Amino acid sequence: MSITVNNITKSFGNQKALDNISFSINKGEIVGFLGPNGAGKSTLMKILTTYSLADEGEAKINEFDVVKDQKNVQKSVGYLPEHNPLYLDMYVKEYFGFNADVYKTDKKRITEVIEQTGLSSEAHKKIGQLSKGYRQRVGLAAALLHNPEVLILDEPTTGLDPNQLLDIRKLIKEIGKEKTILLSTHIMKEVEAVCDRVIVINKGALVADKKLKELRETE
Ligand code: ADP
Ligand code: ADP
Repeated sequence: MSITVNNITKSFGNQKALDNISFSINKGEIVGFLGPNGAGKSTLMKILTTYSLADEGEAKINEFDVVKDQKNVQKSVGYLPEHNPLYLDMYVKEYFGFNADVYKTDKKRITEVIEQTGLSSEAHKKIGQLSKGYRQRVGLAAALLHNPEVLILDEPTTGLDPNQLLDIRKLIKEIGKEKTILLSTHIMKEVEAVCDRVIVINKGALVADKKLKELRETE
């Protein structure tokens, strides 16, 4: 399994953000994590990427426990947070160089991810000069830099205009040929466009887990 979530529960004060969530994701799947604002999607994604701790339950990325084996989890996973902080004054290439230094990644990967995410024409610009769509590509490229097997993308198309949104979906689908992806969204259309499977969450509880193929057959 690329991602395993077992009975994860987390509360903020007396409010349960996640209530006994369990699922697992096979290598190579592109899974949509669908739910309205406040459903608990970001909270679970932060737990899976070691940025937050669950109250109960356990989770693994590639058999590495997210609490006991954080180094290996971080090596295995690339994360695009919902509000990805970018350094607007940095040049695109400089930003990846900085990331490669922080994560001790081979600098050869920089050219590869720039090409893979369609950033070649923007690589010499400052991040602040880029459109939202290209900034999102920078976030995706940064998540791919250390060549992780698993990508966790939190609302990767929110705030994009319709053309940018279609381009980013296409790019994610392309990247998904080589990676396992968990992508959160509140838009079913996005799941239909990009994913093989959908896990639906509402008020911290898992309410459905279906292959897209099964959904199409029951329509
Ligand atoms: P989603 O990503 O699906 O929009 P979140 O995981 O961000 O949902 O939030 C789930 C619930 O937990 C929401 O009610 C949110 O307000 C609450 N929450 C998330 N983070 C915190 C926090 N750090 N402190 C208090 N409440 C939080
Ligand atoms: P994100 O979706 O990236 O968490 P948000 O704008 O939802 O971004 O939240 C920004 C920060 O505030 C995050 O660290 C999140 O955990 C925290 N947060 C979210 N909801 C609440 C809340 N209801 N009360 C307190 N902190 C919250």
